[in-house]
Amino acid sequence: MTQPYDPNNVFARILRGEIPCRKVLETEHSLAFHDIGPQAPTHILIIPKGAYIGMDDFTTKASDAEVADFFRAVGEVARMAELVETGYRVLSNCGRNAHQEVQHLHYHVVGGRDLGRMLG
Ligand code: C5P
Repeated sequence: MTQPYDPNNVFARILRGEIPCRKVLETEHSLAFHDIGPQAPTHILIIPKGAYIGMDDFTTKASDAEVADFFRAVGEVARMAELVETGYRVLSNCGRNAHQEVQHLHYHVVGGRDLGRMLG
């Protein structure tokens, strides 16, 4: 990622409380909320509170505490949404080829139906 972080991206605005969200979980370093365009019965986004565009800057610049908090939040969201028994998908679009729409790192947790095979 070479472009600078845009502090006015929609998730930064959600973090500042300028745009509402349907919050699922908030931890010291992370926030989880329902996706506004759900692709499945359960579709939750988890974002770090820090200003990271994607996995590259998150894994090179974030502290161990932020990284641990974030991944624990992803697992906790799946448990809270009762997806563990039936299964779910976790994915993150990073950059142009993945069609990342919002330039603030986010993981999607998707479940509640058979999601099919992702690759081929
Ligand atoms: O991974 P990608 O960047 O393509 O997805 C961005 C996601 O953010 C979309 O699923 C979109 O529905 C969601 N979104 C949201 N709330 C907004 C803007 C986008 O949940 N205000």
